Amino acid sequence: ASQVETLEFQAEARQLLQLMVHSIYSNKDVFLRELISNASDALDKLRLAAQVDKDLDVDTSDLHIEIEVDRDARTLTVRDNGVGMTRDEVVSVIGTIAKSGTAELLRTLRESADANASQELIGQFGVGFYAAFMVADAVELLTRKAGEPGGTRWSSTGEGSYSIESVDTAPQGTSVTLHLKPADTEDSLHDYTAEWTIREIVKRYSDFIAWPIRMTVERPGEEGATTREEQTLNSMKALWARSRDEVEQAEYHEFYKHVAHDWADPLEIVHMKGEGTFEYEALLFLPAHAPLDLFAPQGRRGVQLYVKRVFIMDDCEALMPNYLRFVKGVVDAHDLSLNISREILQQDRQIQVVRRRLVKKILATVKDLKANHAERYRTLWSEFGAVVKEGLIDDTENRDTLLELVSAASTQDPAEPTDLRGYVDRMKDGQGEIWYATGESRAMLENSPHMEAFRARGLEVLLLTDPVDEVWVERVGEYDGKPLRSIAKGDVDLDTDDEREQAEAEREQQRKDHAELVAWMSGVLAEDVKEVRLSSRLTTSPACVVGDAHDLTPTLEKMYRAMGH
Ligand code: ADP
Ligand code: MG
Repeated sequence: ASQVETLEFQAEARQLLQLMVHSIYSNKDVFLRELISNASDALDKLRLAAQVDKDLDVDTSDLHIEIEVDRDARTLTVRDNGVGMTRDEVVSVIGTIAKSGTAELLRTLRESADANASQELIGQFGVGFYAAFMVADAVELLTRKAGEPGGTRWSSTGEGSYSIESVDTAPQGTSVTLHLKPADTEDSLHDYTAEWTIREIVKRYSDFIAWPIRMTVERPGEEGATTREEQTLNSMKALWARSRDEVEQAEYHEFYKHVAHDWADPLEIVHMKGEGTFEYEALLFLPAHAPLDLFAPQGRRGVQLYVKRVFIMDDCEALMPNYLRFVKGVVDAHDLSLNISREILQQDRQIQVVRRRLVKKILATVKDLKANHAERYRTLWSEFGAVVKEGLIDDTENRDTLLELVSAASTQDPAEPTDLRGYVDRMKDGQGEIWYATGESRAMLENSPHMEAFRARGLEVLLLTDPVDEVWVERVGEYDGKPLRSIAKGDVDLDTDDEREQAEAEREQQRKDHAELVAWMSGVLAEDVKEVRLSSRLTTSPACVVGDAHDLTPTLEKMYRAMGH
């Protein structure tokens, strides 16, 4: 063995730990779910590693999770014989938090005085391993990476630092031992050394885990003796393989939390089966909130891939287009090789067929939410609309369906967003175009001088404020045969024929009246603008700058400038 080193937690990890130590989260039972979830992931990884590398020196004959309690010492241990961690991995994944969005999370938590909101945020982030510190005042971890001779021992009280040392021998896998905080004697429900408490929690949160979760239990035997026997606490049924009416809502929810690493319930469940030449089962979820890394390039995307109940990979991008990257869950494909690689998957024709069906089903689900469950659709759209709209750019196959799903703010109603169908239904006689404005915020767009003529004529304008909006409206071009047009581009002609004649006469007069002024301004501004014109679009502002029909809109111009073009 080498000497013990004391290392500091990274600053963000330390702050998150503080929150755990001081137990901001009220449902402490979930610490066990997190530890079991990690153990299960480690067993999945080991089985896969052993399949890929036949020479790997590991024992996969009895992969399982074990829970052990010592009532006198008040310790609880969760042990797995999975893939384990190297010393470097322990330092990097336990000592730091690599998840993007951590800084924002912590800032929001500090600023938020509302305890409920804080709980929700913590839940969205998912604290994983650190949840152990809600119930323990010290945690020890002993681990050995598959194929390596020595192991690593780690321990911490969750306060600023941790100790770490290399050890010559350790059992295969990882064990995590919690030194439980003093029990609240009134509160036997949360006595985590009691068999039935543990049994309850495992059943509630981890029943579907595909590996046996075992515990040695004591039973009164003959003549006052105690017998000990090992029991498996979970049923291990693959949820996606069961039929829908056999599965309880709560089971779906717990499964979702395991696959999505989320603490909140999902918004919607999609459970489907594909039969015929290529069999598969899919259990997919629409989350109720966006993860913090939704727009981070290295963020998690895609669903888990299984082949006949065997876990193959996380984040399988081949099964979900990028614009549905927030969809979580499992796809179990029956006819794939266990050794399939990510690269081959992308090309696989059958995978492409499955993906196409999954996409159709997800979009149909969103459509159904929109038609029948307005509240949930609204949540979905406010969390993920900006991502879904990316699909309007590259998924031409589903463009029409996607266009029906879009909702956007509109001048029609300050509170209610509208869909394109609604806009078209309200179009005025003689109105040929769908008008929109793009910019950073609703307030900014409403105060834009471009808006005046539209307001004066009672013409509805869509107010598009996501960066992706500029791109999709250009790409899509029209809806229901009506061109989508920016109010800030080109000559905007809002008049009917009669009005036009009359206006032309007036304008002619005005041009004569103001010819000198315009000529003077053209001279003064020659360096800055292409042309100075009398305008028919302003009613109260004295002047505004307009782009040519083919010019960039101000937002795009700003975007390109920021990108250094
Ligand atoms: P997450 O599970 O969402 O990645 P956690 O905080 O639960 O986050 O765990 C952090 C990381 O620590 C895991 O991704 C994994 O790499 C490692 N880890 C935790 N527990 C184990 C374990 N029992 N065996 C192997 N690795 C583990
Ligand atoms: Mg975890």
